Amino acid sequence: MSIFSLPGLPRADLADALNRTDLKGGIAHVGGGPIFRIHEALMRRPTRRLARKLVECQSLRSDQLQARQFQNLVNLLTHARRNCPFFGRSEYDHADSIQTLDDFGKLPFLSRFDIRTHARDMCRDDSSSRLLHDHTRGSTDDKLIYFWDRNRQAWDKANRIRGLAWHGFNQTSKELHLWPVDPPVNLRGRLRIVARRLRDALLAESQIDSLLLERLEPADFWAKVRQFNPARISAFPSALVAMIQRDQSIAADSNIPALRAVFLTGEVTFPWQQCLIEQTLRVPCIQSYGIQEAGAIAYECPRRSWHICAESMFVEFIRDNHKALPGELAEVVVTGLQSRAMPVIRYRTGDIVRVRRESCDCGLSLPVMPRILGRISDFLITDNGHWIEPACAIEALSPIFGNGAFQIEQNSNGSLQVQVLDRACAPEDWSSRLSAALQGLFGHRVAFTIQRIPGLHRSEFGKCRYVHSKALPDG
Ligand SMILES: [Zn+2]
Repeated sequence: MSIFSLPGLPRADLADALNRTDLKGGIAHVGGGPIFRIHEALMRRPTRRLARKLVECQSLRSDQLQARQFQNLVNLLTHARRNCPFFGRSEYDHADSIQTLDDFGKLPFLSRFDIRTHARDMCRDDSSSRLLHDHTRGSTDDKLIYFWDRNRQAWDKANRIRGLAWHGFNQTSKELHLWPVDPPVNLRGRLRIVARRLRDALLAESQIDSLLLERLEPADFWAKVRQFNPARISAFPSALVAMIQRDQSIAADSNIPALRAVFLTGEVTFPWQQCLIEQTLRVPCIQSYGIQEAGAIAYECPRRSWHICAESMFVEFIRDNHKALPGELAEVVVTGLQSRAMPVIRYRTGDIVRVRRESCDCGLSLPVMPRILGRISDFLITDNGHWIEPACAIEALSPIFGNGAFQIEQNSNGSLQVQVLDRACAPEDWSSRLSAALQGLFGHRVAFTIQRIPGLHRSEFGKCRYVHSKALPDG
């Protein structure tokens, strides 16, 4: 696909935006300023060395890359069997004699429940690195405690540095984060926030708490952004979109001179969100995919393919416990090859893709994966068991209520509740159009109720699910 056929931005503007990202120099550039180098050294993270290594690997022949990946897989299994009590169980005996990927595919899957129940047992029991712990900040309020170490952090950062470099950015380009800030519960938490602000100032970064956006007037928010003048903004798509939608004309006039791209992660980015951001801010959106408990999984290249971080992540697409076929919906199952503190082996992410034979002509030899369509519980289920993609449900109802102005919830009995923002301007015949749209999706009479709501429901961490079904359990 040509990079000039992207949706959302007029062709001339997109060409201009991409020219400004200095694509030629981006592939090889993983530099960082002296402050970044000192910071990583103080944190005992070999981030820059790993980033350079990743840049070398990305151009290897596919067979060389696969051989290295398989060796990393075997090394991980050896480590897990030897040092982590959970993986010493008999279900993993087979891990001692892995010869092929088919052999690897016979190992058991790991679930979120396993991590919740056995996280400590999954950790290495030697003292080669200091165990750190954190919790997930997912689309549900169901926090998951996981363990990692400085080396895992360095791999995640190195993957990010490489992903940024594909688009002409390095560690010295100013970045504005639009993320939630964990509220401090004690003095230590408050000191951590102060330290983070100091670090951000030194590293040319800044953060606006996405949980507090509603308290900010749009004009004040965009004035803050313009004052910091970032080269890139990193955000949950629904948080940035919500701020744009509160007053699109103010956002469009925000005039941030240095801004060259918006990086989106943490949620599925729907096409209408990408269009809205690109048309309003007139810079391209770039996506990345990862999960905190396992690490970075994929970064989008300038040709908009999702390249897997193959040096540190092995990705499978599974349907009914077997490798999925092209065209099928499948769950993403990951193995964090550099997750030594708490190995994550064949972990069911709960994220769904439609499997395709993917390739990319951008020059990277890293494998390509399909985009995430949603979590399992983002799919609506019909009476006959057909899964409706969340993007299809959104596209069906958006012409009635407007983009981002509603949420659809399916109850465990299959009935629907459509929740529409008070501010949404629906046409007079919305009721009949809604019935027709839902019948178009479900193919028959469908029970639904409608409810007006003052604002979209969000998780504790500010993530928004436009479609949510209780008809299937989440992964
Ligand atoms: Zn590519």
